[in-house]
Amino acid sequence: AELRDTYVAAHPESRRIMSDAAEFMPGGNTRSVLHFDPFPMVIASGDGATVTDVDGHTYIDCAGEFSAGLYGHNDPVIRAAQEKALSDGLVLAAPNRYEAGLAREMCVRFPSLDRVRFCNSGTEANVFALLTARNFTGRSRFMFMEEGYHGGVLTFGGGKASRMNAPFDHVLAPFNDIDAALATIRANKDELAAVMLEPLLGAGGNLLADKAFLEAVRAETQAHGILLIFDEVKTSRLGRSGLQGHFGVTPDMTTFGKYIGGGLSFGAFGGREEIMMLFDPSRPDALMHAGTFNNNVMSMAGGLAGLSEVFTADRADAFLDMTEATRAKLGEALAAKGVPVRPSGFGSMMSLHIGEREPRRWSETDSRAGTLRSLVHLAALEEGLVTTPRGDLYLSLPMTEAMLDDVVAIISGAVAREFPYV
Ligand code: PLP
Repeated sequence: AELRDTYVAAHPESRRIMSDAAEFMPGGNTRSVLHFDPFPMVIASGDGATVTDVDGHTYIDCAGEFSAGLYGHNDPVIRAAQEKALSDGLVLAAPNRYEAGLAREMCVRFPSLDRVRFCNSGTEANVFALLTARNFTGRSRFMFMEEGYHGGVLTFGGGKASRMNAPFDHVLAPFNDIDAALATIRANKDELAAVMLEPLLGAGGNLLADKAFLEAVRAETQAHGILLIFDEVKTSRLGRSGLQGHFGVTPDMTTFGKYIGGGLSFGAFGGREEIMMLFDPSRPDALMHAGTFNNNVMSMAGGLAGLSEVFTADRADAFLDMTEATRAKLGEALAAKGVPVRPSGFGSMMSLHIGEREPRRWSETDSRAGTLRSLVHLAALEEGLVTTPRGDLYLSLPMTEAMLDDVVAIISGAVAREFPYV
């Protein structure tokens, strides 16, 4: 209650704007995950690795737009590319000079991509990947992971999400449980078009897959002609070739989104030649994938500059090492304070979990973690650091070593203070 009162007192302008917003949007909201009690603060601007709210507070930005904010705010190289695209005109109704370059960058970098197609969000990329698998295999059921998140219409978390967010015929298996996953695949082998999974369960608590789990699912799907689709919408930032490169496990298809659009709407799905060539429009039986903004010039131009000049393969590896060191330091700082809380995840994506070891699947997570993260969210705001409302932490490229040390100090301090109230 004390944290909440301090927050309300410090954010009068956000409160006014959110109260006006509630007149025309349900609860003032158009993105469910941004809501928190009493009301979210309204952000006015971002610069580098910080954001500033309409009440004039500046925060280290560890909300990182749920991973889409990899480049931080106002990266000069990406901004120059976007400004050039903007001045050349936006709605051209034709292929533009950027899209093939971005497709090439992606196919060179991610082992599973022979060919790729663009769309407008990670959700859309996943829906198209599933529809592609359905056409390619002639089957219509899918397997996902318990607590998997693949976008607004592909949400397999418990509770309220399941009421309207999973329209496909599907079965679920627990993450990182080889026996259960293989049994589910075998029981549905004649019906399954694809298995779709995040190699790091993101919204489900930032839990990294075991290499052996991915290898087992890869072998079993292959044995039954079932496509394996990795959702790397978030994890493609983890090293030069995402988690498929890190683990050396190559799926049939991969989906992307978030940071690859350079800060603008973006999605992409791609995979093996023989699958993706179904979309070649010169074929009489080509699959149709249309979309007015599939190749929108701002996302293509910013995305191309981002991958080719800013988040190069070497930079991606270095960033993974640097942020994995920060995650280790946070774990050590928490241990030194004597609190049984540890950061799960990998590199620049983390969540706080209660326990001395990070859980391997959702069912192993301590249910008090949600309360802890909400308290840490409010406590960290007072110290000048913003996480996502549900407590995920994302690190971004403009963060300096000194800023990463501040992140460790602020989060470990907030956890130590709030843990007794959980
Ligand atoms: N897949 C994963 C793993 C995600 O985390 C998200 C978004 O958070 C999506 C897909 C959906 O992407 P978008 O929000 O761009 O539709």
